[in-house]
Formats: sequence, C-alpha cells, structure tokens
Amino acid sequence: MSDAVSRREKAHPAALEVEAVLEQVEVSIDEGLSPEEAKKRLEEHGPNVLESSGGESIPKILWRQINDPLIWVLIVAGLFAILLGETIDALVVYAVVIANTLIGFIQEYKAGKEIEALASFVPTETVVLRDGERQTVPASDVVPGDVLLLQSGDRVPADGRVVAARGLQTDEAALTGESLPVEKSPDPVEEGSEVADRASMVHNGSYVTGGNGTVVVTATGRKTELGRVSTMLDEAEGVETPLTKQISWVGKWIAAAILAVAVVLLAIGLVRGFPLVDAVLAAIALAVAAIPEGLPAVITITLAIGVRHMASRQAVIRHLPAAETLGSSTVVCSDKTGTLTRNEMTVRQLWTSAGSRYEVSGTGYRPEGEFSRSDETVEEAPEDLRELLLAGVLCNDSGLKEEDGEWRVTGDPTEGALLVAARKLGLTLKEANAEHPRRDSIPFESERQYMATLNDAADGDGRVIYLKGAPEVVLERCDRLAGGGELDRDAVLARMESFADEGQRVLAFARRFESGDTERLEEDDVGGGFELLGLAGMIDPPRDEAIEAVAACHRAGISVKMITGDHKATAAAIGRQLGLVDERNGAALTGREISRLSDEELGEAVATTNVFARVAPEHKLRLLKTLQARGEVAAMTGDGVNDAPALKQADIGVAMGITGTDVSKEAADVVLTDDNFSSIQAAVEEGRRVYDNLRKALAFLLPTNVGQALIILIGVMFFPVVGGEALLPMQPTQVLWVNLVVAVALALPLAFEVLEPGTMERPPRDPNASILDWMIFLRTLMVGVLMAVGGVGLFLFEYGVQGGGLEGAQTMAVTAIIFYQIFYLIECRSLRGSVFEVGLFTNKWVFVGIGALLLLQLGFVYLPFMNTLFHTAPLGLTEWLLAALVGLIVFPFVSLEKWLRRRREKNRSVRQERRDLPAAR
Ligand code: ATP
Repeated sequence: MSDAVSRREKAHPAALEVEAVLEQVEVSIDEGLSPEEAKKRLEEHGPNVLESSGGESIPKILWRQINDPLIWVLIVAGLFAILLGETIDALVVYAVVIANTLIGFIQEYKAGKEIEALASFVPTETVVLRDGERQTVPASDVVPGDVLLLQSGDRVPADGRVVAARGLQTDEAALTGESLPVEKSPDPVEEGSEVADRASMVHNGSYVTGGNGTVVVTATGRKTELGRVSTMLDEAEGVETPLTKQISWVGKWIAAAILAVAVVLLAIGLVRGFPLVDAVLAAIALAVAAIPEGLPAVITITLAIGVRHMASRQAVIRHLPAAETLGSSTVVCSDKTGTLTRNEMTVRQLWTSAGSRYEVSGTGYRPEGEFSRSDETVEEAPEDLRELLLAGVLCNDSGLKEEDGEWRVTGDPTEGALLVAARKLGLTLKEANAEHPRRDSIPFESERQYMATLNDAADGDGRVIYLKGAPEVVLERCDRLAGGGELDRDAVLARMESFADEGQRVLAFARRFESGDTERLEEDDVGGGFELLGLAGMIDPPRDEAIEAVAACHRAGISVKMITGDHKATAAAIGRQLGLVDERNGAALTGREISRLSDEELGEAVATTNVFARVAPEHKLRLLKTLQARGEVAAMTGDGVNDAPALKQADIGVAMGITGTDVSKEAADVVLTDDNFSSIQAAVEEGRRVYDNLRKALAFLLPTNVGQALIILIGVMFFPVVGGEALLPMQPTQVLWVNLVVAVALALPLAFEVLEPGTMERPPRDPNASILDWMIFLRTLMVGVLMAVGGVGLFLFEYGVQGGGLEGAQTMAVTAIIFYQIFYLIECRSLRGSVFEVGLFTNKWVFVGIGALLLLQLGFVYLPFMNTLFHTAPLGLTEWLLAALVGLIVFPFVSLEKWLRRRREKNRSVRQERRDLPAAR
C-alpha cells in the first residue's frame, strides 16, 4: 500500500475531499448502494442502533421496593419477633416482605418495560438512495456507504460526510451541548478538528434545522460519535410522574406519623401492663396496618394500563407524566391541515391571468372530472389555463400514481391536487418534465410560504422560474399579468378572498423568463419581476370525526383552538364547519394581528377567538404562553422543525406520527399515530379515566389502613389483659394478611375500570388540586371508622357475648373485614354514582379479584397450616353469614355520602352556570 493511501485511510473523513471519502466507503453518489450490498454491509456492521440501558436497572427497581419505610419497619419488626422468640410470626412477616417486594418488582418492571416499548414505538425512518432511487428505510438499516438525502426536520441517523448542501444546518446540541444551529458544507476541515468544528460532517442524533443536503454515511451505531458518548442514552426516564412523587411524599409522612403513634402505643401497652412481647407486637401491628403497601404497585399499573389504552387509540405517550396531565387539559391547540381536515386536497376553482374563472369537478385523487367556464365544459385548455396548470405541475415535488385501481399521491397533498387537476385536462407530469426539464428548486417551507423551480424554457432557449405559494407572497413578487395585462392587486386579492371564504386553500402561480443557462436557483433570485399566471382554490374538507371530537371537547369544557398557516378567510370558513367560529367566538386572528397586540390584549383575544391564521411558529409560542398565563393547561400540536419550542412549552406537546418531522416527535409528549384530532380527544378521555382510577384506588386502599390501625389502637387502649396476654381483635400477622391480599386482589382490578358515564361532560379538573383532597380524606375517615366499628363489634360479640374462642373471634373479624372490602370495592367502582351506572359487568377483573380473594380467605380459614401461621380457626356457616352481614354496613353509608356530594355538586354547578351565563367557552 502506498504512503499516500495509508495516510488517506488514517485521515478523518471530515478532512478528506468528498471523492476520497466516496472511494473509502465504496459507493457512487448518483446510484447509492445496491440493496444487496446494503444487506451485506448490514450483516457486517450490524444494525444502526445504540443499545440503551433499557430504562431503569433491575437492582434499582428492586431497591426501590425494599427501600420503603414500611419494609424497613417490617424487617425490624421481624427481628424483634425473633428476639422475643416468636419465630412463626417472624417467618410470616419475612414471607410478606419477600412477597411484597417481588410483587411490586414484577409489576413495576413489567409496567416500565411496556411504557418503554411504547415510547420507542415511534420508529425513525430515513430517506436513502439505493440503486439510484429514493427509498425510505428504517434508520436501523442504514449502513456505512449509504447515501442519505436529508431535509429540514430530519433526525440524522448516522455519522456522515456532507457531499452536497443547500443551506444545510443542524442542531448538534445532543452531542456538543451547542444549541445554535451549525452550518454544514462539503468543504473539508482541518485534520484533527473537534466534533463541534467538523462542518463537513453531520452526526448521529442531531437534527436538520434548515436546508437540505446529501450525505454519505461513514459510521453507524456504536461507532458514531454519539455511540462513543453512550452515557447520553442511559438517561431513560423511570416510571415516576408528578403524581407518583406526590403520593410517595405523602406516604413518607404517613409512615413517619405512624411510627410515632406506634411508639406511643408501645408505651401505652406497657403502662397498661401488657407483656413486652405483646406490646411490641401490637405496635408492629399498628405500623403494618396503617401503611398502604399495595399503593405504589397499583399506581404504576394504573398508569401503565392507561398508556396502553391510549396507544390503542392512536396516541403514543412518550413521557409518562403526560398520561396524567392529559386528563386535566383545558385547551387543545391544533393544526388545521391533516389534523382537523383530511389533507385530501382537490382543486375546485381556477382563475387565470386572462380573467377567466374555471370550475373543476370530480372528487379525491382520481383524475376524472371536467373543467367548465360560465357553465360550459372546456374540452381543450386555452393558453392561459394551460400555462397555469403547467406551472402547477412543474413547480411540484409530489407524485401521482394508480395502484390496484386506486389513485394515490406521494408527497404533499397540496401539490398532488395540482397534478390531479392538470391530468383532468390531459396534462401529465412526465410530458411537462420532458418539455421543461428541471435544473434546480427551492422546496416549499411554511416559513417562506412559496416554492420555486428553475426549468428549461419551451424551445430550450433560456430558462423559466416558476413560483407558487400563498397569494400575498407571490403577488409581492409580481409586476404584471402573464400575457402582458396590467396587474390590479386589489382585484386579485378580492378574487382570492372569494375563494378563501368558501374554505378553500388558495395558491398563486407566477413565472419569470431568464436568458442564459444558469444551473442554480437561490432565494435571492426570486425577489421580484414575476408575471402572475393565476390562482387555484382547493378544498380540504374537515374530517367528520374531528367535527364530533371538537363537539366532545366542548362538552367536556375544553376549548379548541385551530392554528394554521392558511389564509384567514379559509381558516374562518373551516373553523365555522368545525364549530369553532360562532356568534360567541369571533372570526380569525392572523399572525400579523397577534404581533400587534400587547400581552394584555392578546390575553383577552385568546378568550374569544378560536381560529388563528397565517401563524408562524413564534406566534404559536406566544399564544401558548398567553394561554398558560391565563391558567390554562394547554395541549398543542406541531409537526415542523420550528414547532419544537412550542411543543416543549406546551403542557402536553402533541406530534404527528405520519407527517411530523423527527424533531417534533422528539420534542413531544404524545405522538398521534394517525395524525387525527379525534385521537387527542380520545387521549384526553383516557387521561381522565386514568386519573379517576387512581383516585378510586386511593379511595379504596387508604380506608383499609385507617380501619385496621383503629382496630389495633382500640385493642391496645381499651381491651383487657387476659391470662397474662394482651387481647387484640386481630393479630399482627392477620393485619398483614388483610393488607397484602386485599391490595393485590381487590385494588388492582380498579386499574381496569372503564370510563364512567358523564366523565366527558364534566369540566376539566383543577390542575393544582392535590389528588388527596377532602373527598378522599373524609371518605377514608368514614369508611375506616366504620370498618373498625364493624370488626371490633363482631369480635366483641363473638368473644364476649357468644363466648367463642379467641382465634375464632379474630378469624371472624378478619373475614368480616374481607367482606366489607369486597362490598366497598363495588362502591369504589364509581366515585360519584352507583355501580349500576358504570355497569355491573363492565370490568371482569373485579370478579376475578373477588373470586381469588374468597378462595384465599377459604384457605386462611380452613387450611391447617394457615391456622398455625395466622392463628386462625375454621368457621361455621352462621359465622360466615354474620361476617358477610357486618361487611354489608358499608353500602348504606357510602351510598348516602355519594348522594349528598352529588347534590352539592349539582347545586354548585347551577350557581356557577348562572354566574357564567354571559361568557361561555
Ligand atoms: P396547518 O397549520 O393548518 O397545517 P399549514 O401550516 O400546513 O396549515 P402551510 O403548509 O404553512 O399551512 O401553508 C401556508 C400557505 O402556504 C398556504 O395557505 C398556501 O397558500 C401555501 N402553500 C401550502 N403548501 C404549499 C406548497 N406545497 N407550495 C407552495 N405553497 C404552498
């Protein structure tokens, strides 16, 4: 090998000439790799992925189960029991510790995996050149030597050398910490340059923030710069959310308070003459009784199930807290095209430079339909019409093809519609391109609102620049009509308004002839001097399901704001069809008008305006901040590169799975796999369900703890010492039994509870309200006290009145509490109404749970080894019935409480309505 070659091979591709890099990775820039070669290289280099650490590590999750105040109390309690010679009790306590840790671990681990799998469910794809053709492949299939065609909004899937660039800029913050976009170009840099200075390279994990470029891949997967600093990916999120944090914080305080009470209890026991063993055991029992062991697992599971439901309704949650926040959203800001509308454009009207207006018939993308002028069918396109259609076909990046009898558009539907319209008069893309080959182009971008192409003029003599875009933008650059007529701007704008008033998206077309044979088209070349060819108006009807979803949001007290780049009149017309513009909510506000308003004025305007037109990303951000300053919890959709700040600022950032850029998906909390507005509404609905179910779990679990703690407390404080032994209504191990078994068997099914009727008719909840509110507090107290009264009462009746044995009486008390819990679970299935409103059989898991619990309880009562372990005794039929009867007392009390609360809520909402009548959403 010659010196030169070995030197070249050692040099970094960033410092090499493009040709040398292409030689090194053995690829032709025009052809790309062949599929076979790509396959071979994929086998050789492995898939282009960075193995992440898989979220939280197993020891970490395990440790979290053990590092719980309760578990420590139990471990210490077990030690005491051993010291005091109560080995069996100690064994039971440790068995419970192990079971609890394992159950918690398995559930959290599974839930975590599930959430993680969903988050990565949004695959990244990338466009490569294979065998000379553009192909979209999964980012994981990219291999060294692949030719990548990058454009604004893409995530760079591998490290690569820039071969050609047009205004190519990337954001490399993930790699270099530098958040300003970096300009990229094919010129080699100095050997030895740092990553941040390699302007001739793009790097895995960065984003294209502007322009486009061709790049040849030099490294994939672990071999990329990102792969080297692999710690980055280990920041995977755990399963914590604001809510779980709030609950675990409260849990810690409860634990501390309980420990204090337990110590006091120990003292009382000793003062009252309890033997030491019994006093300690009673204190332990109290601690065990009062801490809600099952809670963390139930919460994680509820969230995980919520996330799964949302995914099945086309909303993939990328950041877990969004699963909760969704339920509290008060306003949804949505893009128009594709989200609220179908994004199936059809050209309906044309206006040409000769002053003629044409109507176009036909629906969808099938190029069948007629052109008519003043109700007369046009068979052959006159010159003015032909030139207009030609501009639409040439200044176009989309494709139209027929597959299995169905016509499909690839690329931008707005552009596809122009191909369809031209074809209705026999003008095809192929013909047009053959006649006027394209030399260069400036693709459409929302910020510019135009697209331009440089084509050969008809007879090969010189060039022609075609310009198409938003009428205001195109008109600004025109000084005459095609064909030489005088340009009356106001008349053209009035014509455009008349199209837009019918809800049509309007595009204007212009051209400029150039002498010479230039090959490049820059933004500066399209500044002016154009002649206007005409206008096209196209419809994009609202999605039926979006109309329904908007209505559903309104019923749920959620306002919907439509934010669009389209013209004001178009936006207002679509807004009207969607039910967003009515007598209460005024017409649309434009980006320019927003800029002119002060913060205060804008604050007032957002309250009564639902449609915002010609909006740029910076307006989006300002709108969002204004809404948030008014105390709204805002969900906002976005798809472009520049939407990322708004998506991050939103309480819930929503990206589009199909049309969204990688940048927007990365910044979002939720990705809609079908781009459909109704999926946002579905996700909000699921969010409310999740929150309700979490409250149900709390309302169910907390009273158990209060009730049992009270039972022990009553025992220690008031029960006599009999035969040198403390008399207690329940043994510590029995308390554990109730806590653990009930939590797992009964509370978990609540996670599957269906949406309560009326949930989407209620206003959103106060986002600042704690989940542990007065309702939960009072309910906990009432149900807990009742449980204690029932349990202790039954024990006293059996032991004192009936003269039954201690073990039998305790077993009865435990059984009564189990029944009590079963009945209470049924009440908990609805927070407000009766279980019949939710539907008795809508959640089969409740019955599975109850069945399992009864089986376990049978074992607890009748199996000899259980009798030994838990100090229980077999019961007769009457005793079972008695226990069930005591359990039933929960029904009337909770039903009464619900009824009172509902009555109060109703009175309050009537008063509120009276107050709010003039200013509705
Ligand atoms: P929405 O926010 O509802 O999704 P949008 O942001 O997609 O709408 P843009 O695509 O930014 O709206 O379009 C803004 C304006 O630019 C349109 O009203 C239209 O006049 C013009 N326009 C849209 N698509 C193209 C295109 N492919 N080429 C040229 N001009 C276009």
